[in-house]
Amino acid sequence: MRSSVIHVIGAGVAGLAAAVRLAEGGATVVVHEAAPAAGGRCRSYYDHALGMVIDNGNHLLLSGNHAAMSFLALIGAEHGLSGPPTTEFPFIDLATHACWRLRPNAGRLGWWIFDPSRRVPGTRVTDYLDIIRLLWAPAQTPIGTAMPCSGQVYERLWRPILLAALNTDPPEADAGLAAAVIRETLMVGGRAYRPLIARDGLSATLIDPAIRYLQARGATVRLEHNLHRLGCDGRRVARLDFGNDTIELAPRDAVVLAVPPFMAKTLLPDLTTPDAYRAIVNAHFAVEPPKDFPPMIGVINATIEWIFTFPGRLSVTISGADRLLNEPREALAERIWREVADVAGIAEKLPAWQIVRERRATFAALPEQNAKRPGAETNWDNLVLAGDWTATGLPATIEGAIRSGNRAADLLNRRA
Ligand SMILES: Cc1cc2nc3c(=O)[nH]c(=O)nc-3n(C[C@H](O)[C@H](O)[C@H](O)COP(=O)(O)OP(=O)(O)OC[C@H]3O[C@@H](n4cnc5c(N)ncnc54)[C@H](O)[C@@H]3O)c2cc1C
Repeated sequence: MRSSVIHVIGAGVAGLAAAVRLAEGGATVVVHEAAPAAGGRCRSYYDHALGMVIDNGNHLLLSGNHAAMSFLALIGAEHGLSGPPTTEFPFIDLATHACWRLRPNAGRLGWWIFDPSRRVPGTRVTDYLDIIRLLWAPAQTPIGTAMPCSGQVYERLWRPILLAALNTDPPEADAGLAAAVIRETLMVGGRAYRPLIARDGLSATLIDPAIRYLQARGATVRLEHNLHRLGCDGRRVARLDFGNDTIELAPRDAVVLAVPPFMAKTLLPDLTTPDAYRAIVNAHFAVEPPKDFPPMIGVINATIEWIFTFPGRLSVTISGADRLLNEPREALAERIWREVADVAGIAEKLPAWQIVRERRATFAALPEQNAKRPGAETNWDNLVLAGDWTATGLPATIEGAIRSGNRAADLLNRRA
């Protein structure tokens, strides 16, 4: 028989995915979120410096992120993603100003690497085969041990892609996580890695429609409701202590704990979790993008890695960006703007800007950190875990977070 109420702790993408799947199955769901808004690391907010709503960070989805696509379809938001009609990634090398477009073909047989106009300039077909070595790398191997991390194809293709996917300097990152991404994208063909962004913002696309879906099915979403303590009774969680109020759980009630790893560890001190993180820095500039500037462009030989185009704004992503955390904001904004202006051919001085530094953007995708990721099941019969840091087999991404939420919901549905 089904648990009478399922409490989901944390309204990030993982918690919302779990809640949506549980509500879809007819469960009574209550979501408790500590922050004043839902979304966690994947949200929009009004930025006073820029005078517009922006996302906490530019988030890229890929067309082959099947769990994310199904989630969006279920909550009626699949039309909120936009991207090029076919898979292509424009790049510029800021040292030489060489520009190229990576244009993989749609199908599984990757014939695009045989076409010099579709691949990275100055590379040979055989250079591309290095990446396959990742697929056979033994468990807990760093990428740097599994494949060469130098040369044109590495610097101009594998490094930017792996760094974006893993948010960790590729040579030290886990080869198995990289292989999982490659299996689901490159090995499937260009149709699986068409780049997609939330055109109207992350909250409007992923978060608000999920909340509406939940509320339409009678679920409750309680914001600023911070769980302080889990009260356990033998093999069950018996109470949820929110400081000012406590919820006693009925015998068939259950809990999905979908908080970040450091908070999961605080609530469950015996849990093993990843405990090293990598930062992501985003810089936003209130400037009208030049006509015909691509929706996103990769930048090589620069501090900046990707520029995204939005109405009235150019926006930069720098992954694995811990080295930039202590740099004074003004100097960093100025430095980043000079590169953006160079790429976009803009003569203007520094426009209105914002820099968002997410220190703990993702867990560090190192072999030893990956090994610390727990599964969804816990020592308590009515408590399951979700979050991008749980053992999804993927790096910390929206896709991984949604799969973890789905898995948590499926476990509870099976036990009901
Ligand atoms: C700047 C940046 C850029 C990124 N870029 C990409 C990208 O391009 N593509 C991609 O796929 N992924 C990207 N990611 C990663 C992606 O955002 C995360 O993988 C995903 O949002 C994680 O979701 P989650 O639900 O697991 O965790 P979180 O979003 O951290 O959600 C956890 C929630 O729990 C709440 N909470 C914490 N403690 C408590 C408590 N005690 N009680 C109640 N609630 C609590 C938090 O407030 C939060 O809302 C990026 C992340 C960042 C930060």
